[in-house]
Order: sequence, then structure tokens, then C-alpha cells
Amino acid sequence: MTGGAGFVGTWLCRQLLDDGWHVLVVDNLVTGTRAAVDRLSCHPNFSFLEADVARPFLVEGAVDLVMHLASPASPVDYAALPVETMLVGSQGTMHALDLAQLNGARFVLASTSEVYGDPLVHPQPEHYWGNVNPVGPRSVYDESKRFAEALTTAYRSSRSVDTGIARIFNTYGPGMRADDGRMIPAFMTQALRGEPLTVAGDGSQTRSLCFVTDTTAGLRALAASSCAGPVNLGGQDEVSVLELAETIRRLAGSRSRIRFVDLPEDDPKVRRPDTSRAQQLLGWAPSVGVEEGLLRTLEWFDQQLAEPSTRGAGSRQRTALTSDESALGA
Ligand code: NAD
Repeated sequence: MTGGAGFVGTWLCRQLLDDGWHVLVVDNLVTGTRAAVDRLSCHPNFSFLEADVARPFLVEGAVDLVMHLASPASPVDYAALPVETMLVGSQGTMHALDLAQLNGARFVLASTSEVYGDPLVHPQPEHYWGNVNPVGPRSVYDESKRFAEALTTAYRSSRSVDTGIARIFNTYGPGMRADDGRMIPAFMTQALRGEPLTVAGDGSQTRSLCFVTDTTAGLRALAASSCAGPVNLGGQDEVSVLELAETIRRLAGSRSRIRFVDLPEDDPKVRRPDTSRAQQLLGWAPSVGVEEGLLRTLEWFDQQLAEPSTRGAGSRQRTALTSDESALGA
């Protein structure tokens, strides 16, 4: 698994290890963490290779499945790493595909809803080609994933690699970095610290949220199939960004105010997947409700915040962490 030291990859690794797989993570820790690797390292079937997959890397032994997750994924991260993002989407994808071809292995690409850009079709089905600015601030990520999808398709058609493409929509849950710049970690840490929740624009833009265990269930189902995709994986509960901020504030029992900030350039106005293909081909549908997922994530962020004085800015509802969530390092 490339990118297995990151947020989604860590969850996926643990589940695959629990299922009896031997998992080798190849990651350069550019946005993933050493702590995540250390926590996985106690498993006897886990191994780690610190390497940049945009450069050639060597894997010894047979490989049955290559899951390619390596890429900066948050707008803050890929804005800070623009060339690296393009290289991991292009050369990194090529090296991961070469590994699959060499071993006759199944290959799964973690692509993104960002391939739809600022969509003109709503909800987004897989046959929609998208509306992407090739030279905007998000283009390094959007275009590298679009290139990765095209390269994956070329390896399938011309080199007979058994490939599957997942288009992942906004995924959240315990294990996200508080400082990764994505909306949910930002709102949660702000609410828990009693700071203003920074909502971009007027907050009317929408997002559809998917709890991380639902996303990883979809990725595993795709891996176990021979489906080429692309397949959308995402939640159906579409909420405006302002509604989401207000919900998080309520669930956190926080008295933080909302502060409106400038809308970033090319920010998508709407986002909701059409997931009928995933339901038909993979039997997949998300199962964790938004409030339940948000509460589990809030609980986790609450435990991460260092200063005891900033914790629990109010008398919010509490939920028990699962053993998997506790294992993330709470
Ligand atoms: P993340 O930043 O937490 O994890 C990405 C991992 O990739 C990190 O461990 C990082 O160190 C590693 N990486 C980056 N460049 C690398 C390179 N050149 N060589 C080796 N390792 C490298 O992000 P995430 O949220 O876990 O996302 C995982 C994948 O899923 C990404 O490909 C992302 O584009 C995709 N995705 C995620 C979401 C989401 O909402 N989380 C949505 C759509 C798509």
C-alpha cells in the first residue's frame, strides 16, 4: 500500500492486517506520520519501506494487491507541495502500476471527487467528465488524479493489468491531523478550543461526508472485485458548509461564533456522489450516519488536544471510542 501512513491508509492497513493480509506500506511520510507507522509496527504481518514512490522503489517477494493511496490530499498540503503532488500522481502511479504488472497483482487507485472539479452536473455520476480549471490553485491535485486515472486505464487496456479506480468523496473520522487544513478537523479543533469556526464564503456550498470505515469498506470491496470503475465512494447526506459548522458546534457543546472568511478560488459549489454504480457492482453503501460519525470524530479530536484547559468547551454529548479509534493514538 502506497500512502499507508496517512489517514485513510492507516485505517485500511489495520483492517487488512486483521483480515490476515501481510501489508507492506511504502510511504515517504510527507503528510503521513511516523507515529502511525509505529502503531502498526507491533503487528507481525506489517512492514514499512520509507520511500518516495515518485522515484523507482524495490519490493521483494510476491505481491497480490497494490493499493495506491500516496498523494498529499488536503488543499493546504497540496498547495505546499505542488510539484510533489503532480509527480506522485504521475510517476508514483506509474511505479505502483509497474509493481502490479510485474506481480500480476490487482491494482486499486485512490482517486477523488476532485476529478469533477466545480461540477455542472449534480449529483455527480461516474460518466460526468467534470469541470476542472487546469491552471487554478487546485489543479495540481485535480489534474494529477485525472492523469493517474488515464494512466491506470492505459495499463488496463494495453498491459492487461487488473485495475480498479475509486473516486473518493470527502472522508472524515478519527486519525485525521488537526492541522491538515480540511474542513472537519478545522471546525472541530476550533469548536473544542472555543475559537471562531471559519466558514468560507457564505457557507452555502455543499459537501457530502463519508465516515472513514465506510470509505475503507468500499476500497476493500473494490479490491476484492474485478471491477474497473471508476466507482464513486461517498456519503449521500449532502450538507452546506454552514450547516456542518453549526452541527459540529452543537455536538461539541461549544459557544464559538462563526466567522466568515474569503471563499478560496475554484472552491466547488456542490458535491454529492451518485453511488448507484458502487451499490450495483460492489454491493456497497455507507452505513455510518453523519451525527454518529461526527461524534466519534469529535471524541477523538478532544483527546488529541494538548491543553486540558481548552478541552470540552461545553457540555457536549459523548460517545465511546471503538478499540480501532483508541488504537489510532488517543
Ligand atoms: P493523507 O495525506 O493522510 O495520506 C497520504 C499519504 O501519502 C501520506 O502518508 C503521505 O506521506 C503519503 N505520500 C504522499 N506523497 C508520497 C510519495 N511521493 N511517496 C510516498 N508516500 C507519499 O491523505 P488521505 O486523506 O489518507 O488520502 C489518501 C488517498 O485518498 C489520497 O490519494 C487522496 O487523494 C485520496 N482521497 C482522500 C480523500 C479524503 O477525504 N480523505 C478524498 C478523496 C481522495
